[in-house]
Amino acid sequence: MQARAVLAVAAHPDDEVLMAGATLARHAAEGARVDILFVADGGSARFAAPDAPGAAEAIAAREEAARAAARILGARPPRFLRFPDNRLDSAALLDIVKAIEAVVAESEPETVYTHFEGDLNIDHAIVGRAVRTACRPTPGRGVRRLYAGETLSASEWGGGPRFRPTRFVGCDAAGALATKIAALRAYGDEIPPAPHPRSLEAVEALARSRGAEAGLDHAEAFEIIREIDA
Ligand SMILES: [Zn+2]
Repeated sequence: MQARAVLAVAAHPDDEVLMAGATLARHAAEGARVDILFVADGGSARFAAPDAPGAAEAIAAREEAARAAARILGARPPRFLRFPDNRLDSAALLDIVKAIEAVVAESEPETVYTHFEGDLNIDHAIVGRAVRTACRPTPGRGVRRLYAGETLSASEWGGGPRFRPTRFVGCDAAGALATKIAALRAYGDEIPPAPHPRSLEAVEALARSRGAEAGLDHAEAFEIIREIDA
């Protein structure tokens, strides 16, 4: 694992746990500083507009759940860019890139996790693209490892190339995987019952399946976008 500073950039609260919750917990347990950044507000899509009655309360509740999940993972309090939920395609990509770049410059991560660009969800695809741009390896930048993770109910439903993992991070059922499940539970009613793809049963089944691909009991899987050993 070997990283002093790690950043996960997710579109919505709960994506960070689904994508990399066990891996972030392992980083934190090994002493890394773990930061989490959310790009979209994670609540306003259920309302006619981001400023509709009730939207602000829904967004605040989601952010409170995200703070609780971050504590469980051992991460620092998350940051929120609050671009409009499921409407990232209404924002200029450059604005999203610049906002992410500012957090990367401040957080100075060596290792970054973000979305697989082939996800069905438009916000995930845009965040994946924006993070790839924000972490481009020009001289003086410190991001050495960039990975794309899969999100149940988004990665398997995209119509393009399938998610093809090239890095596997083992997670013990009683250790990092249990921490991931506990962090997911912090999101409360966002976790639907089986056989929904974001049910706890599906999360455990995916961890079991990815583990089996790598000769491990359970694992999270990532596509390697870039690794640099200077
Ligand atoms: Zn999402």
